[in-house]
Amino acid sequence: MKDLLKKISGIRQLLGSVDLDQVAKLSQKVDLPKMVGLVSKMSEEDLSKMMGMLKGGGKPKEIPPVNGDFYELGKMLPHHEREIQLRVREFMETEIKPIANDYWNRAEFPMHIIPKMAELDIAGLTYQGYGCPGHSALLEGFIAMEMARVDTSISTFFGVQSGLAMGSVYLCGSEDQKREWLPSMQRLEKIGAFGLTEPEVGSGVAGGLTTTCKRNGDSWLLNGQKKWIGNATFSDMTVIWARDLDDNQVKGFIVRKDNPGFLAEKLKDKMALRTVQNALITLTNCEVPENDRLQNANSFKDTAKVLRMTRAGVAWQAVGCGRGAYELALAYTNERKQFGRPIASFQLVQDLLVTMLGDLTAMQTMVFRLSQMQDSDELLDEHASLAKVFCTLRMRSIVDHARELFGGNGILLQHDIARFVADAEAVYSYEGTKEINSLIVGRAITGHSAFV
Ligand SMILES: Cc1cc2nc3c(=O)[nH]c(=O)nc-3n(C[C@H](O)[C@H](O)[C@H](O)COP(=O)(O)OP(=O)(O)OC[C@H]3O[C@@H](n4cnc5c(N)ncnc54)[C@H](O)[C@@H]3O)c2cc1C
Repeated sequence: MKDLLKKISGIRQLLGSVDLDQVAKLSQKVDLPKMVGLVSKMSEEDLSKMMGMLKGGGKPKEIPPVNGDFYELGKMLPHHEREIQLRVREFMETEIKPIANDYWNRAEFPMHIIPKMAELDIAGLTYQGYGCPGHSALLEGFIAMEMARVDTSISTFFGVQSGLAMGSVYLCGSEDQKREWLPSMQRLEKIGAFGLTEPEVGSGVAGGLTTTCKRNGDSWLLNGQKKWIGNATFSDMTVIWARDLDDNQVKGFIVRKDNPGFLAEKLKDKMALRTVQNALITLTNCEVPENDRLQNANSFKDTAKVLRMTRAGVAWQAVGCGRGAYELALAYTNERKQFGRPIASFQLVQDLLVTMLGDLTAMQTMVFRLSQMQDSDELLDEHASLAKVFCTLRMRSIVDHARELFGGNGILLQHDIARFVADAEAVYSYEGTKEINSLIVGRAITGHSAFV
């Protein structure tokens, strides 16, 4: 009798471990009381063999690792650069991932991570000299991707510092200015921002800046407003682009944070990149010494050189945001069960995953080639613009599909994917909208400018 009870409890355990729908189907086909009778006559060994068979041989199903780099492009980096990529990945997984949603939710920036990020020695990655490591643009792209793969806000903070702000000094500054700013910005001891966009002028900045500068002896007076300026609420310096009232050309200035004519107010209630601190800057007779005018920025063409370089980085960011979303979705589809099976086992779900992976792989191979062109000095505006347009469009589609696969959980911040969906919207619009970048490519391929 004791034996029989043990066996019945074994059957209960077994039935408990199989799906209830399967039990219901089984009971329609099998005479369960008769089966219990038969089972009660089985030896312990036979019973455990049968349980093993019913459980699929006792071996848990092997799930392939989640990997959004399907063509293994990361492996094409030279060994020492691949190591840096993986160090950044580890930093993002251990230091940023656990806090990303909390800071995003509170719309605060995690200032404490800056010294830890500095230890990675990756700011100003491609610049030569001034304490910068002089690595390839390809590695820089991979780093932007790794950051955005976990938290697009952090990659935006870094892109503003290393690309837009340091890049303005590197490409447009004098030797003295480079020596003063680049080493400390490389170590993230000094933080920078880049002020180009204005409340009334975004896409039309090339010809339409309303912020003005006017020479006044050994200094300049700046007046106007800048909107959306990332990092500017706490940056030590902000590069301000302004139109010279005398020659009508765009000039660049390094404005220090304690300048009395400089006011940076945090933009509140954003629905994307909430961790990034974007500011509305008001310049009121802001006096800047001639020494702080970027000595090699003489027209908007010089501003555009900075944007060409950083636009490639934004395309990589879009890859990272898409890759993070795809990988989250793939992992979730194996964890989440419906109808007694992981949702990953449904054909329609696999179709979505493969569509996402196809887009992601096309994006990755495109930016890989883009960075190679940057490294061989062949990169033109239209090359960077095409990548920005294509990758941000595909990113939007990927995060959309990823959210879909999370069902209702897709709108809960705790599942991360909602943050990716929201953040993708900002990446889609900044550094030139889809329309503006399309017009840049359109002009290059047709020979006709269609901006106005
Ligand atoms: C989160 C975030 C961070 C940012 N960070 C910075 C920063 O650090 N520094 C900085 O300087 N700026 C920053 N920006 C500004 C960003 O670069 C601008 O938002 C972007 O250039 C678009 O300008 P806009 O928002 O004024 O849109 P608008 O120029 O007003 O455009 C509105 C719409 O009109 C379309 N449009 C405009 N002109 C044309 C045309 N000729 N043909 C067809 N369509 C057209 C646009 O494509 C868009 O769809 C940031 C923006 C965001 C959202």
